[in-house]
Amino acid sequence: MKRCLVALLLLVPLLIPVDAVAHGIWGHVHVTGWAIENLPEGELQEFFSEPEVMHAALFGAAFTDSGYWPQGGELAQRSRAYSEHTHWEPFIQDFVAWIVQNDPPPWDSLASRQRVAFLMGVASHGLQDEIFDSLFLYQIQHHDGAGQEEADPGTDGFLALDGHIRFQPTSAFLPYETLLELYEGLGAGVDRDTIERSVRVMELVYLDHANGLGVARTLGEQYKDVIPWARAHYLDPDVPGSLVAEVEPTGRYMEAIWGRLHGRTAGADPVVFAYPATPRRLRSHDASLPDSWVTFIFAAGVRYDAAVPTWVDREDEPVMFAPRNTRWGGTWPRLIRLLPEANLEPGGWYTAGLGEGVELIDGSEAVAFSHEFQVACEEGDPDDCEDLGELYVPDIGEPNPPDAGLDAAPDTDTDPDSGPDNDMGRDARDPPLDGADDVSSPDTPDPAPPTASSVKGGSCEVAADGVNWSLRRR
Ligand SMILES: [Zn+2]
Repeated sequence: MKRCLVALLLLVPLLIPVDAVAHGIWGHVHVTGWAIENLPEGELQEFFSEPEVMHAALFGAAFTDSGYWPQGGELAQRSRAYSEHTHWEPFIQDFVAWIVQNDPPPWDSLASRQRVAFLMGVASHGLQDEIFDSLFLYQIQHHDGAGQEEADPGTDGFLALDGHIRFQPTSAFLPYETLLELYEGLGAGVDRDTIERSVRVMELVYLDHANGLGVARTLGEQYKDVIPWARAHYLDPDVPGSLVAEVEPTGRYMEAIWGRLHGRTAGADPVVFAYPATPRRLRSHDASLPDSWVTFIFAAGVRYDAAVPTWVDREDEPVMFAPRNTRWGGTWPRLIRLLPEANLEPGGWYTAGLGEGVELIDGSEAVAFSHEFQVACEEGDPDDCEDLGELYVPDIGEPNPPDAGLDAAPDTDTDPDSGPDNDMGRDARDPPLDGADDVSSPDTPDPAPPTASSVKGGSCEVAADGVNWSLRRR
């Protein structure tokens, strides 16, 4: 077993650079943890004050990618099927509907609270991928001439080099019964063994307090000179899609899910966050740069085809722009980008918005939304751009000394099968759960077909039939 572990760890630097993990898993865990720590006072902040509940969310933030880790043969297909589906809002809406129907608030048992937190973590991961891939990857492409294969492992590595890896999620809680019920509609044959084996590989190879930190540091060293702009800006709060810039939208999205779980419709407050975030300015008037994009983050998946965003200047004259889905498309994305088609006015003021009536995945219709912002002035012409003073930046904590370990996870004896999953009163005769009408993976084109190479696994427990490195751009 130990030999297997060593062999796997030696392979990790070769494995991670492929697009198997996307927006590195340490990044997901920490952006989610930071978002929870930066929640405003209130019900949701109180909910996460229980360590076991917090850790269920942190593990949920990692779980979403668990099926992309190396597996062999049919297991790889099943694992990939559940991971892909778990990324998107149709799954999140199904999960919300399941809880509302089977275990509505106030969630008196710890297992119930952990399941809700796990949902929050899973959902946060999917949103973060949409943001990072649709915004920050274009910045890296522009500045570093690189892409996801460098950005995903690189940013995880930079977190380690900079001493920001401090959460240590464990799979002590996994709501198997709920997940398996939700995955039934995939028709992919996902069973408990599929999930257990996938999670085990992820924990063994990477999400492990003894080894994962070292692996991440290695990745940081490997990529720091490959993507130097990303190295300098991956925590820049002013760059949309950086890890720190994801913290606020992740928190607002968690609050929206909390509302959905409590019967509040997403349409009543459809856009939970927008870049540029007031009072920050749009970073550039230059329409050729991703710095000129406006982005809305939604409280729930929005029917992209029906959304008609608007953009006008201060004289109410329309701005020519192209709406864009996530980088990967999707019927129910959580964001919409607005790309100007001509240069904007430096220092100019604009209003972008969305008309009322756009459908959200929870069945509600969005009320009208608008967002006023200013474009950055050109250098040397600051007359129209007053000093914004000190801007809000989420607190991500002080970095650890380079050789520090990780915070210990709470010692929990929670048996995933002892919770209300098995004591829910849910009857086999119950009708199928209502959910989104898109239970399959969203109709997104796969930008690159998976490629695979195999490595002889020998007696390796986690992949006795050899290791297939299944790649995925998420
Ligand atoms: Zn992902």
